[in-house]
Amino acid sequence: MTGNIEKLKNLLSIDKKIVITTHINPDGDAIGSSLALFHFLKKLGYKVNIITPNQHPSFLDWVPGCNEIIVFDKNKEHSSNLISESNLLFTLDFNDLSRCGEIGDYVKTKIHDIIMIDHHQSPSNYSKIMFSYPDASSTCELVYNLIKGLKNDSIIDKEIATCIYLGMMTDTGCFQYNSVNSETHKIVSSLLNKGIDHNSIYNKIYNSNNISKLRILGCALNSLTIVKDYKATYMYLSKKQLRENGYKKGDSEGLVNYGLSLKEINFTAIFIEDEDSEDLIKISFRSKNDFPCNLFASEFFDGGGHKNAAGGKFSGKLDEATSKFKDSLKKFNSKNKL
Ligand code: 5GP
Ligand code: MN
Repeated sequence: MTGNIEKLKNLLSIDKKIVITTHINPDGDAIGSSLALFHFLKKLGYKVNIITPNQHPSFLDWVPGCNEIIVFDKNKEHSSNLISESNLLFTLDFNDLSRCGEIGDYVKTKIHDIIMIDHHQSPSNYSKIMFSYPDASSTCELVYNLIKGLKNDSIIDKEIATCIYLGMMTDTGCFQYNSVNSETHKIVSSLLNKGIDHNSIYNKIYNSNNISKLRILGCALNSLTIVKDYKATYMYLSKKQLRENGYKKGDSEGLVNYGLSLKEINFTAIFIEDEDSEDLIKISFRSKNDFPCNLFASEFFDGGGHKNAAGGKFSGKLDEATSKFKDSLKKFNSKNKL
């Protein structure tokens, strides 16, 4: 990281107009890392804007600085002007421009310097400086290290620490994944010393459900199917179920994990019909141990991600998607001897 930090220091040494962007359907890590970097750069005196491709879910509305985020979908002209006028652009928590939707088209054509900060595998080659660390717990952890490298820990105040903790907590399933190591906990220790209220952050994320979320969870659990031969499960949700239960953005967040909570199950998927499309199904994959969700997602469902958490998509009906899932399990299993 040190060499890259020196390069970034040089870029930051000239007065800059900075834009920070992140992936479609921003999650805790996307919003947390973007806002942490935003507060830090503003503290250093830069002119900074955050542009997200679409609206974040309402359970993130409390994050310090959230009301300053510009949503591309709702402010296309203003957002594209800001991107065109910027001369330094940070892309956070993704590593391929397809992950930031239409923003990617504006990013590609302009001549600003792009800094990627990300922890997904197989980064695309679009940035001038690439902070790409697939083993890191979260982009927030990388932003912490970046801030420490550019300045030092003392510039991190409670606001920045809260944003960083948010993404570390959500991207590690509350510090349970294998990506967590002693370094992760050292950072958490330092964040706690900044006075963050970790219990309140947890409650705002995990104990602030809408009733619609629990009703949708009920529907998903009703669909739970076990594919015993491959130690896998899957669930699905139709557009009709989402509509009838008052679906709001973010209600399906985390549901996929229930399919993995059964004993002896190593791999799970949830198929959710996309509200805004005719025939698109969004898929989330999760695994325990060595099952490589990202390889499965990229081979069969036009997706990717991490070993234990990935996503993908399917064009067609739910029953076609789940049939393909079962066929793919068979193919994948015989090829990879899992
Ligand atoms: P989720 O299931 O929470 O939507 O996504 C899990 C992980 O997979 C995230 O780290 C996300 O970045 C990645 N991911 C989700 N959908 C896609 C996709 O369509 N393509 C790729 N390459 N990664 C995805
Ligand atoms: Mn992340």
